[in-house]
Amino acid sequence: MNLLKLSISKADAAIFQRRILTWYKKFGRHTLPWQLETEAYPIWLSEIMLQQTQVQTVIPYYHKFLSRFPTVQTLADASIDEVLGLWSGLGYYARGRNLHAAAQQVCQHHAGLFPKTLEALITLPGIGRSTAGAILAQSDGQAIPILDANVKRVLCRFHAIETASETALWGLATVYTPNTDVRAYTQAMMDIGALVCRNTHPECDSCPLQNDCAGFQSGNPTHYPEKKKRAAIPTRACVFALIIEGTRVLLQKRPTKGIWGGLWAFPEWSEATDKTLLGSYPHTLSPLQKHTFTHFHLSYQTRKITLKKCPAAVLTHWPNTELVDIIDSLSLGLPTPIKRLLTQLMTHSEKTKELL
Ligand code: SF4
Repeated sequence: MNLLKLSISKADAAIFQRRILTWYKKFGRHTLPWQLETEAYPIWLSEIMLQQTQVQTVIPYYHKFLSRFPTVQTLADASIDEVLGLWSGLGYYARGRNLHAAAQQVCQHHAGLFPKTLEALITLPGIGRSTAGAILAQSDGQAIPILDANVKRVLCRFHAIETASETALWGLATVYTPNTDVRAYTQAMMDIGALVCRNTHPECDSCPLQNDCAGFQSGNPTHYPEKKKRAAIPTRACVFALIIEGTRVLLQKRPTKGIWGGLWAFPEWSEATDKTLLGSYPHTLSPLQKHTFTHFHLSYQTRKITLKKCPAAVLTHWPNTELVDIIDSLSLGLPTPIKRLLTQLMTHSEKTKELL
């Protein structure tokens, strides 16, 4: 379907909205924790967490954050280490950093209240147009469209659109967004995409849009929208320096920009490290392990060195390092493979009363 040739009358849009809303009343999700909220703060929190993450994964993190940071001010006042520590395991850590920065901006520039215009909301870190629309629709009932991946898929399939510009799809989303009942409509569109018009195996026979759906009528709804070919993701190899002193391990806070920005990880062993006094210490090299991230595979080993007293030269060999007690380290913001290694060390130390 060529989107330019598409003309949707107000009556067509009203039928679409009615079908979606009737379905939502009966089959949609109504008891997700953030659906009980009308304040922008918890709705924003849930929207950021739900980006590229499943509802079931988000729920415990949502509760954990709201319990520790009941207001945007408490979140703004917290340290970034604490925020990333609580975010640990949820992935896409830029979201955690942006969450903290946005909370600080809301408190510094908006008196602790989330702005109520799209233009102002999208100036906050981590809030794009669709997230801003979802926040304003759900907290303030504003008739603003959303266009997340679920909504895009539903609209493209409904009109059998293979490809279209973002501008054209936003136009389509705007036409269908009603002036009233926006809160329910917004949630209904998310639910239709997540529960019925799923990426693979859409359940067209349970879909309220089936009668007029061009994608369904084509006999091949999953053809729409056209899938982007994913580039093969590269493999990155590294050796972590696992330096242990008593019950403490050496951790390095990674720079804010770049991989694992703001998180704590073991420093990486390099040729330059070989030339320091560390190169002469006896060590054990672990077997190769692998972890897959969204953008790359990581293949890693640890080079473990146990020291009675960590010399100052070792501490200064890498920037931003600290010896951290292994128990405390687990509450820091840690990438998944580092958390796994620290947990293994911890379990080992509980059994043997020592880290090696
Ligand atoms: Fe998606 Fe099928 Fe519903 Fe069309 S009928 S919107 S393809 S679930």
